[in-house]
Amino acid sequence: MTARVAELDVTKERFWGEFVSSLHVPESGDVTRTDAAVIDVRGSIERLGAVESRYRALLEGLPLVAFVCGWESGRRMRYVSPQVEALLGFDQAEWLEGEDLWDARLHPEDRGRVLEAAGEAFGAGRPLRMEYRLLRRDGRAVWVREETDPPVTLGDGPRLAHGVLIDVSERRATETALERERARAEGYRARLEAIGDGAAASDGGPGPAGAPNDPLTGLVTRPGLEERLHAAVDTARDSGEEVALLCIDIDSFKLVNDSLGLEAGDELLRQVSARLCRLVGPNDALARPGADEFLLMLGRLESGAGLDTSEDAARRVAEILSEPFEVAGSELAVTAGVGASVSPRDAREPEELLKHADAAMHSARELGPSEFALYGGGTIEARLQLAETARLRRAIGAGELVLHYQPIFALPSGEVAHLEALVRWQRPDSGLAAPLSFIPLAEESGLIESLGRWVLDALLEQAGEWLGEGRDVRFSFNVSPRQLRRSDFARNIAAAIEQRSLDPARFCVEITESSAMRNSHAVEPLLRELRAAGLRLAVDDFGLGYSSLDRLRDLPFQMLKIDRSFLARTPEDRGCAGIVRAVLELAEALGMEAVAEGVETEEQRRFLEERRCPLAQGFLLSRPLPASEVAALLPAPAGAETASAPRG
Ligand code: C2E
Ligand code: MG
Ligand code: MG
Repeated sequence: MTARVAELDVTKERFWGEFVSSLHVPESGDVTRTDAAVIDVRGSIERLGAVESRYRALLEGLPLVAFVCGWESGRRMRYVSPQVEALLGFDQAEWLEGEDLWDARLHPEDRGRVLEAAGEAFGAGRPLRMEYRLLRRDGRAVWVREETDPPVTLGDGPRLAHGVLIDVSERRATETALERERARAEGYRARLEAIGDGAAASDGGPGPAGAPNDPLTGLVTRPGLEERLHAAVDTARDSGEEVALLCIDIDSFKLVNDSLGLEAGDELLRQVSARLCRLVGPNDALARPGADEFLLMLGRLESGAGLDTSEDAARRVAEILSEPFEVAGSELAVTAGVGASVSPRDAREPEELLKHADAAMHSARELGPSEFALYGGGTIEARLQLAETARLRRAIGAGELVLHYQPIFALPSGEVAHLEALVRWQRPDSGLAAPLSFIPLAEESGLIESLGRWVLDALLEQAGEWLGEGRDVRFSFNVSPRQLRRSDFARNIAAAIEQRSLDPARFCVEITESSAMRNSHAVEPLLRELRAAGLRLAVDDFGLGYSSLDRLRDLPFQMLKIDRSFLARTPEDRGCAGIVRAVLELAEALGMEAVAEGVETEEQRRFLEERRCPLAQGFLLSRPLPASEVAALLPAPAGAETASAPRG
């Protein structure tokens, strides 16, 4: 009799069935008959599923971590039950998706013996029973007992072993306390004996086994971090990787203690440490060495990545602290100064690394609240306004940016030919901020990309409305050098315009002369791509950069905006007036439209008209205005002339 479960397709309905057959073998030995039947096993499969989920619920409810592991050049976890999060602070997904956490979180002192024993047991097909320490996300060590069965091979699958990890920290702590008591009693007895002998006894009892944790936050203290730092620097030395150390100091912490009391101060530190824990990855460690100071070690960084990673981490520190804290019924805003140092770049030894990170933190302190400093041979190499960056990041998402539009007028008709979109930041605390107060920071911190995306979206939205009303106007917007570094820059702009079914020829991208020329060979393909997509291109602030006229002729620009500093002294300063005249002629010779920026007086306007400058922009003609006000200056919607009856 044979039986097997198969997926059957009878009466067009697919279902799981068990196929049973039996052979009738008479005495002659020839098979005469085969009986077969199909038994519907849907019910049992459902029951099996129910049993499995009950079994899983039972397993995942136990006060231990169950796991299944395999072996590929080291132990690899294939399954870990969700209790692992409560035990170690990394959730099930982190455990199964990233690099091998079990290996990364082994306590450096236990690592050697554990790896050796695990390898031996797996290789020899033996069970493994041992106790060792794993490091939690917050750096605390947890004693676990591991009980793993001998590995088995299922079918032709890989060899796997299943086991459990049980938290035995409490028992170990009791044992350690007993041990300490015993040692103290021993010491006492020895001292008594020494007194009996008449000799002087030393005061130093045996040190506690392992580094204690900070009782307030549960984080490791400085000795605990130093231990991990030594191990990380050693590993980095062997593998050619880098280790970064960040020293984080909470600004004005004393003020909280003084004004709200020590308990509130403690509560704030607990909350800060809980947030900082979010930055701790498998190879990292966080400690609180002093009252309002934290040390964050980032291990196993690729060679050369230490600097950028430290900057990113400092930025994230500012960001996660930027959400207000609720302590003793008050909302507290917290900022921190951050200093960083990278090994082996700045220091070969852990002690040196600690010293340098500390020095960098003090430099950051001197720069002002919420600053970042990076140690580099005793000088500050990088400096970021961390808190301001965090505020700007939030502003972009929170709708605090607005676009104003400054008209560019055709001369001599005085009609609005273009609108230049200029961004402003409507700050909740201090009103409207001009772009030059935050664009450089956006550039430096990388936020310019999301800011640029916001500007384009807001412009296209508004342009869509005006063009939809039939108004005949063109638009221009500014882009920063850093935006030009992305190879998908032009593609994204073209796609956004196409998505809204707008005419790309209505849009002009303004690029300052210096950013276009500084790296013109790298920028040229992007410019050509924008042109191919139908957009227009303007050289902004012309005259301040160092254009080679030859290059300017090669690049596909259609507009040339003369920097307003030349116009400012025109016509009284003959040199400046001469330059304006020459640039107007140059634009004409290159077939480009010239725009004079910064027209503030009637005289300047007359000067430009006499020299046949086609376009002008400036406070005399119009300041940048909010959309609602600039709309009144735009050409009337097509057909409006007929719609509104002529007056008088
Ligand atoms: P820009 O592109 O050269 O823009 C013209 C600037 O000159 C504007 O300053 C405008 O208000 C100012 N201006 C116009 N007419 C006059 C005048 O008659 N006299 C004087 N003294 N100034 C005049 P704003 O709005 O402060 O913008 C400054 C710069 O910020 C812009 O210079 C541009 O480089 C940058 N910027 C503005 N918006 C954006 C943006 O969305 N993205 C990027 N990347 N940069 C932007
Ligand atoms: Mg501009
Ligand atoms: Mg300009």
